[in-house]
Amino acid sequence: MKKRDVIIIGGGPAGRVIVHSLLSQKSGMSVALIKNEEINVNRCAIPYGIPDSKPIEKFVVSNKLVTDFGADLVVDEVVKIDPSNREIHTQGGDTYAYTNLVLATGSRPLVPPIPGVESGPITPVRTLANLSRLRAFAAKNKKAVIIGGGYIGIELAVVLRQMGLEVTIVEMLPKILLATTEPEFIGEVEKILTDNRIQLLTNRKVVEFATHNGEGLDVILDDGSTVSADFAVLSVGVVPNIELAVQAGLMTSRLGIQTDQYLRTSSEHIYAAGDCVEKISSITGKSTRGEFGTNAVFMAKIVAQNILGKNKIFPGVINASATSVYDWSLGSAGLTEKMAQESGINTVTGYSEVLDKYPMMKGVTPIRTKLVFDRDTGRLVGGGVLQKGDGAARNADFISLAIQMKAILEDLLTCQYATHPELAAKPSDNTYVFAAKDALGKK
Ligand SMILES: Cc1cc2nc3c(=O)[nH]c(=O)nc-3n(C[C@H](O)[C@H](O)[C@H](O)COP(=O)(O)OP(=O)(O)OC[C@H]3O[C@@H](n4cnc5c(N)ncnc54)[C@H](O)[C@@H]3O)c2cc1C
Repeated sequence: MKKRDVIIIGGGPAGRVIVHSLLSQKSGMSVALIKNEEINVNRCAIPYGIPDSKPIEKFVVSNKLVTDFGADLVVDEVVKIDPSNREIHTQGGDTYAYTNLVLATGSRPLVPPIPGVESGPITPVRTLANLSRLRAFAAKNKKAVIIGGGYIGIELAVVLRQMGLEVTIVEMLPKILLATTEPEFIGEVEKILTDNRIQLLTNRKVVEFATHNGEGLDVILDDGSTVSADFAVLSVGVVPNIELAVQAGLMTSRLGIQTDQYLRTSSEHIYAAGDCVEKISSITGKSTRGEFGTNAVFMAKIVAQNILGKNKIFPGVINASATSVYDWSLGSAGLTEKMAQESGINTVTGYSEVLDKYPMMKGVTPIRTKLVFDRDTGRLVGGGVLQKGDGAARNADFISLAIQMKAILEDLLTCQYATHPELAAKPSDNTYVFAAKDALGKK
């Protein structure tokens, strides 16, 4: 039997960052990372890897990110954890003993139980094999249907449309992006998509996929209509990989493996990080979703610190995120107004539209910002930004940091900022100050 100080199961961002964090600090620990995907793809970049203008190798993550730090890399599947003996067993027949174990098993695409979903030209988006299949579909076909109108579905739709395909998005909710985005921004995003001739079918569910003789696909919807396509892409969410944790008797929920504030599972010496973990919102203290690469990395750093005996507390997630839609960008952090209300917060919101440069400058365009405050305490609990250009991620970062620092409405009203004719609004204008002022007027 092989023995290691730390064994990590999973080679996504969470697993890799734990290796890096443990071994870059010259801890002298023996570390093994066991993963069942031989080559990992950079998942966030999958939509942009569909055109074959760039080699697919550009989209993979090198295994050297594990081995260069001195960890052992094992390509195998862990099939059993035995917490009482501190051992794990792999599909390949090996047994490893550990001092500390980390579950970084991630999540997998949700495949809804729709007749026909398992056969025909239909793919989820998660792995290198999925990306290869998507590339092949896109290269030889003309019509694509995307199931799911969240961030990833929209990124896929834009890329496929830019490649010249006819693209339809089917979304079961009344609008696209509803799970993450303020309704004030959704209308604008829908317009950008339809102006670019991406068809949006909202409020409709797929009830069947029918293939005919291996050629083409009929996507049958619950209103009786059919969308004919050459292939379909599923992007309707993910399911945490908790099966190993369940088998080991660890506490889990529908949202993932449950941990304490040190990211330790219900078994001593077993930690968990990333998509496989049930997240706690740093704003509400309640369970929440949060399958983001950034959350995985942050949790991984905390786990590594705690394995090194630092007793670091994970404060919960803020869920900062961003996406691009043609030459627009969209970002958010914290809770939308609806989420805040659903978690019992008495909200007051502020909205602003401020020019991103001085008005006489070339290419000037508005930044739209919505901030959500707790009316009773004044605390900022969320915000979103929609703007032309690629600035929304940086604006989401600002909102995220303000939430993390527990900013209140007055802090936003008096925040000190930079200005420059080509780079920012004129001195009297600032998108956050104006949104905070708007909220103050409604208090
Ligand atoms: C198309 C797409 C776009 C995305 N875009 C963004 C973005 O723009 N921004 C963002 O923040 N996030 C984005 N994400 C989400 C981000 O990719 C995930 O949050 C992140 O990959 C989670 O990292 P992880 O290490 O927890 O899990 P994963 O990346 O899922 O890695 C877990 C690994 O563990 C392996 N594993 C599971 N069980 C076992 C076992 N028993 N034995 C061995 N190995 C096992 C899995 O096969 C997998 O390789 C995107 C995701 C997708 C699919």
